[in-house]
Amino acid sequence: MRQRNRSVIAHPHLLGDDVQVSCNDGTERRYVNLDYAASTPVMAEVWDAVEAFVPWCSSVHRGTGAKSRVSTAAFEDARGDVARFVGARTSDTVVWVRNTTEAINVLATALPAGTKVLSSGVEHHANMLPWRRHDVRLLPFSNSPADLIEAASHELRKQPADLIAVTGASNVTGEVWPIAELSAIAHYHGAKLFVDAAQLAPHRAIDMKQTGIDYLALSGHKLYAPFGAGALVGARLEHGDPLLHGGGAIKHVTLDDVLWADAPDRHEAGSPNVIGAVALGAACRALSAMGMDELARRERALAFRLWAGLAEIPGLQVHTLWRPGDTDRVGVATFTLDGFRHPLLAAILSAEHAIGVRHGCFCAHPLIARLLDLDSREERRLTEMLRAGQKPLLPGAVRASLGLGTTPEDIDRLLDALMEIAVHGPRSRYKHDRELDEYGAI
Ligand code: PMP
Repeated sequence: MRQRNRSVIAHPHLLGDDVQVSCNDGTERRYVNLDYAASTPVMAEVWDAVEAFVPWCSSVHRGTGAKSRVSTAAFEDARGDVARFVGARTSDTVVWVRNTTEAINVLATALPAGTKVLSSGVEHHANMLPWRRHDVRLLPFSNSPADLIEAASHELRKQPADLIAVTGASNVTGEVWPIAELSAIAHYHGAKLFVDAAQLAPHRAIDMKQTGIDYLALSGHKLYAPFGAGALVGARLEHGDPLLHGGGAIKHVTLDDVLWADAPDRHEAGSPNVIGAVALGAACRALSAMGMDELARRERALAFRLWAGLAEIPGLQVHTLWRPGDTDRVGVATFTLDGFRHPLLAAILSAEHAIGVRHGCFCAHPLIARLLDLDSREERRLTEMLRAGQKPLLPGAVRASLGLGTTPEDIDRLLDALMEIAVHGPRSRYKHDRELDEYGAI
């Protein structure tokens, strides 16, 4: 396959990070992307790999032509790239999925009905709702990693579980979960450990074998490969139902019976996203070559600059579950600013400062309710209003998240903007669209 000449790529790492956007005062400014936790831009190495592969892209597995053979090899090799990236065991398999959400649903569907799952209210909805079809219990919100470990240990002594399902790093607070300790506790009590690595994988080296992670899910679009593929990595799911029923996942079908294929095919019904797999494989290779520890070191310096700067802004609160310093944190800060609802603050940052952040509840409603001190009566009131078809103004926060393309200048742009907003207010006036709960400059 032809390798693209790298010198034509405008940026050494990420495509589009020199894009200029218009602000509402008519000026053009370089767009500052502080929304990596939602989706990352494409890494140049990934784009190279996709471009080189595209002329060869064809059906995998069942095609006999030369292109099918090349495509099948690329598709299968990419499983190895993902497996190496997360330090999987040789006995583990990589199941291709669309994203972390699908990976968790694949795992939850494959496990026997009534599987006892221990999780917590901190989780992203993707690592919360799929477990509700099983026998799930939640650990209480903890005040420190030691508290969490103690609670998990206590709970498992009281009542066994088959699986502990936790995040690797919170998409709201950035706090990194004590995975090795939880794995030791899980295994001591005969349970397996599932880690939602959607936020951990882009920021920290992962070694499934060494830390004892049994199953892990990740998304390509958070790993600089937004081409629609993700992965579920772990022990072969040879038994249990596949999430998707259809072609490619079977050994044999009769009019009234089906013999499912072995894993991973069993869990990959339908024509797969070959380009997505090639892209994710390339991202894993590129990130490994960069060195995840080096990447983490660089990111920590930027994150400290961000957290230290945010602490100086009057009326701004950064929300964390644990005391800062109690744990490692990936480059995420979720905050609220007195006097500014989250959609308004995010709109001002975009319209006046060309800064892209995210706002709302980040698919982690219970955690946001906890961080914002919402009492259960208020939560019930909001639920009832929504159930009745009303549109209450929902609480939430603003999140800034860092990634490979983030520079100290980007952090300072955000800090300067927030300081200006906190001290002087917005430059423009904003109109509230009640229906959408969005603000637009007027
Ligand atoms: N878990 C975490 C911690 C996440 O941050 C996200 C994405 N925000 C998901 C799961 C779901 O990922 P996806 O949307 O790629 O399925």
